[in-house]
Amino acid sequence: MKFYFLFVFLTIVVFGFSVHIDVRLLNHKQLNRMEISIHAGKYTLFTDNEKSYEIEKNQSVFVSKDGDFVSVTIGSNVFKSTQINLKGSSFINVFRLIPKETNLKDLLYDDDLIIKTDSNGLVVINHVDLEHYVAGVVQSEAGIVKDQLEYYYVQAIISRTYALVNYLKHNTEGYNLCDNEHCQVYKGRNRNADISRAVAKTSGVVIVDENMQMISAAFHANCGGQTVNSEDIWTIPTSYLKAISDSFCLNQSGALWTKKVSLKEYNAFLLTQQLSETVFVKSGENTVLFSQPQRKIVGPHQIPLKTFRTYFDLRSTFFDIALEDNKVVFKGKGYGHGVGLCQQGALEMIRKGYDYKDVIQFYYTKVDLVHYSQLKYNFMP
Ligand SMILES: [Zn+2]
Ligand SMILES: [Zn+2]
Repeated sequence: MKFYFLFVFLTIVVFGFSVHIDVRLLNHKQLNRMEISIHAGKYTLFTDNEKSYEIEKNQSVFVSKDGDFVSVTIGSNVFKSTQINLKGSSFINVFRLIPKETNLKDLLYDDDLIIKTDSNGLVVINHVDLEHYVAGVVQSEAGIVKDQLEYYYVQAIISRTYALVNYLKHNTEGYNLCDNEHCQVYKGRNRNADISRAVAKTSGVVIVDENMQMISAAFHANCGGQTVNSEDIWTIPTSYLKAISDSFCLNQSGALWTKKVSLKEYNAFLLTQQLSETVFVKSGENTVLFSQPQRKIVGPHQIPLKTFRTYFDLRSTFFDIALEDNKVVFKGKGYGHGVGLCQQGALEMIRKGYDYKDVIQFYYTKVDLVHYSQLKYNFMP
């Protein structure tokens, strides 16, 4: 028994908690043929869970859909099975995915690959270490920020929290997360040294609410000076997505915007809201003279501001409306839904010397940071 505990202890200390995540790649694209080239490390090909071939660095694997089967060609060897796995066996394992039938770019990915088929084509799943995935997401979602390492700490913690909270999001489809905006944008492995350092420094850290539950760490580009309660946009209130006023993002790009539409377009919108002809806007009428010094939920005619945003494709729900020169003019602030962390404000806080914990606790109300191993429940099946 003692040995067992020693073993568990050593496993945790030496290897840490290793969590992998299955991310479906390019699920909106039709993929029938692709090349996989081994970029680093060594891989073993498993066909229907049987060890079939050892693949060396720089060797190419050609994969295609053959009815319900996956056909694999390596040199003169051909394999056919319902599912293939490419498992890395070195310390660092990286493959390049080269789709053959689309104008998609080649991308590098860390760790393992699973390929099967459905009626549309090949189903390609990256079985990737959670921290490698987080680094890839931070690179895709946060962009390149020079010399502001703490900002990457914030993004890494948010991305990791999202991945674990949404671990079962695509469970019925046979994977955990997809690689586009529906989940988190993940365009392959990270190549930025600062991001790698930030992910390593915050390894395993997630955001929890006052009941030690991981939070839905919503974020957006710029709140325009005031964030939004989650219930004002998505109907569900939380203890941590509360409106706060934010002066850090006010002078950033994206803080102000305008959009002009014709009276005809505006009236067509009112019609979609089942408003009678009497409220139609004529030039000079005051039905659109709307002011929003603080963020509100509804605008003129009690129409929800998010309905305006969707219909007119506005940058945010934080705007005034005026009539100018026979046009309806939206004069807005911010970019995005406005709930949770404001990215441009967060970056400005870091520039001013606040640390990543200050930033997270400013934008999310009554939250704390813990390692996910401290959570009392299991987020995985
Ligand atoms: Zn998704
Ligand atoms: Zn802001």
